[in-house]
Amino acid sequence: METTSVAQVFLLALLTAVATGIGALPFLFVKGLTRRWLGVSNALASGLMLAASFGLIYEGVAYGLWRALLGVVLGLSFIVLTRTLIQHEEHPVVFAQMGGFDARKALLIVGVMTLHSFTEGVGIGVSFGGGEAFGLFISLALAVHNIPEGLAISLVLVPRGVGVGRAVLWSIFSSVPQPLMAIPAFLFVEIFQPFLPVGLGFAGGAMIWMVFSELVPDALEETSANLVAVVVTFAVAAMVAFQFLIR
Ligand SMILES: [Zn+2]
Repeated sequence: METTSVAQVFLLALLTAVATGIGALPFLFVKGLTRRWLGVSNALASGLMLAASFGLIYEGVAYGLWRALLGVVLGLSFIVLTRTLIQHEEHPVVFAQMGGFDARKALLIVGVMTLHSFTEGVGIGVSFGGGEAFGLFISLALAVHNIPEGLAISLVLVPRGVGVGRAVLWSIFSSVPQPLMAIPAFLFVEIFQPFLPVGLGFAGGAMIWMVFSELVPDALEETSANLVAVVVTFAVAAMVAFQFLIR
């Protein structure tokens, strides 16, 4: 069996990061996306992220039930604390050319998505420890998995006035931890592996909180509860089917 080089792992993990940017591309064809669409966009992002977070927790408990559940509690505590800190910030938050309320929200969402990529980077590195073919499979699956996540990020950014080019860059940015974490995890598999279920639970916990604290209330402000529920249901079903197909 050929040995996998560090450069190979890095390049594949970099590919997964770039794939996230593809999720922003549908906005090239959507003209006149105004705040009116914010409700539907937020509902769509809610469903995609909700299903993704359940996927993370399921994967975590498969590695280790209690460590994954500990991760959920840690992720939840972390995000609640972070939000409190952002809200008590005295200087106005400016992020991606947005100010005030929108900037805080966008910062939180891009932040959580970036955070969850650290664990996925570890996942790539550890998977290469199980052989080159397995690592390759996990990298490709993750690259495809990243596309709807880029879409979810762009659904939050673009209707708030961020250009498509910048949405592509922020989407890719959110996955930059994947190549960065894949290398140490690949080199030191034994050290990283026990923390993988904790990281997966952490990411899932933080994402579920974000859906119900930020995205759903936003969606409800702009559109009816009925429409929000319909869009979330379809988005969850689509994401679950998608995750099943790329397995
Ligand atoms: Zn992900």
